[in-house]
Amino acid sequence: MKLANLDGRAAIITDAGATDVATASAGRFGPDLTSVYDRWAAFREWAASADTSQAAPLDPPQLRSPVPEPRQVFAIGLNYRQHAAESGMQPPAIPATFTKFPACITGPYDDVVLPSEMVDWEIELVVVIGERAVKVAEADAWAHIAGYTVGQDLSERRVQMAAGAQFSLGKSYTGFAPTGPWLVTLDEFADPANLELGCSIDGEVMQHSRTDELIFSVPRLIAELSAVLPLLPGDIIFTGTPSGVGAARKPPRFLEPGQVLESWIEGIGSIRNRMVAS
Ligand code: ZN
Repeated sequence: MKLANLDGRAAIITDAGATDVATASAGRFGPDLTSVYDRWAAFREWAASADTSQAAPLDPPQLRSPVPEPRQVFAIGLNYRQHAAESGMQPPAIPATFTKFPACITGPYDDVVLPSEMVDWEIELVVVIGERAVKVAEADAWAHIAGYTVGQDLSERRVQMAAGAQFSLGKSYTGFAPTGPWLVTLDEFADPANLELGCSIDGEVMQHSRTDELIFSVPRLIAELSAVLPLLPGDIIFTGTPSGVGAARKPPRFLEPGQVLESWIEGIGSIRNRMVAS
């Protein structure tokens, strides 16, 4: 199932178009996305047999982030070996965890204002939690996932590295977490642990890898994080970026006004964000 956010209303996306969740469920679920994640198991059960025959044509400009207001956002650094190597770092022994403050979340096709000339790109698989997770074993972790979406962990590298390290702040400027175009449930993937992902700037491919290269797999991340604190329905995890970021290039490259950053993951789709001057 694909679950989208159309102008603030949850919608099931099929080949025929969009079905408004609140309307189709006669008010039982939605319209907002957060309330859907809060009752994820019941929603999935209803959605499995929901009537989508009255779907309306999908209007892509209406698409917003499928997880617009998570209570917690986890993000993982140095989770692909080649990216750790290009950053001059050893792969960490535990997940290198920070947050992107939730107010920086933006939609799949929104413009992003560049706060400086040092903003970098990081395509990432984003995991959405569907069931509260407390001290979950790796083998049980998949059952706690609502689905996947595409994310960009945009990063202002100067602030990120200032005062020791300010990852959470440097990665949380307004608009620095474009996500979408929708959530895709795990049953839609032949192998949810091995998905091609990448990003390009004005068509020039910058990153290209597969999620089976993750140092800490998705189930391992859920096990490690939920050992520390509860993961709540609708929380999201940015799982880390592969190699090819701008700061590691020689010479370094960063995003410029007017450029279009496109990010894609196999089986989910792509998001496109135009960079604009502040
Ligand atoms: Zn990242």
